[in-house]
Amino acid sequence: MAVSEAALKENYRRLSDEKLMRIAAEDAPRLRPEALVLLKAELSTRGLAETAEKTIQAQLRQATEAEVLAYGALLQAQPCPVCGSAARPLNATVTHRVLSFVVMTTWKKQLVIACPPCLDQLNHDAMKSSALLGWWGFPWGVPRTIDALLSNQKMTRANHAPYPNETLLAFVAGNVGRIEAARANARDLHALLKATLRS
Ligand SMILES: [Zn+2]
Repeated sequence: MAVSEAALKENYRRLSDEKLMRIAAEDAPRLRPEALVLLKAELSTRGLAETAEKTIQAQLRQATEAEVLAYGALLQAQPCPVCGSAARPLNATVTHRVLSFVVMTTWKKQLVIACPPCLDQLNHDAMKSSALLGWWGFPWGVPRTIDALLSNQKMTRANHAPYPNETLLAFVAGNVGRIEAARANARDLHALLKATLRS
């Protein structure tokens, strides 16, 4: 059953400014049209409509290739969320980690953004823990561990690209609203990049 309009309105009214802005920055495309109207009305009551509108619009329309590249360059210019260095353009990788426990083998993929040496280290750590803990599950431990080692190895090749690699561009394309919301504030951008390490 759909949540009634009154209940939804009350729900938005109770949320903090920060939480409302987060919904505007991250969830707008998934909201029903009537929910989006209510969200905008509540933001307007609080004087946040203008700020929120930009991030909502950024998500609702398809970002152009030029915009994705510009956001990619913006992220590349930030200090590394792991080591703090701004000496080299950041990029992204996907770490593949396999963990086996008797008959259970789990595979975890994680997209992370950092400077090239830190990306290498993250791929290397994922390989090391997969090699130690991944292989002994049955029957998938050995084949999945080999896959994880090869996948990490392959990902490291794009860690040192001077331009935004495919993984970084994929992150940008999926997070236009969040990047638009954070772009004016270095601390927010740093928090956005740092969050990839915890996901
Ligand atoms: Zn680094």
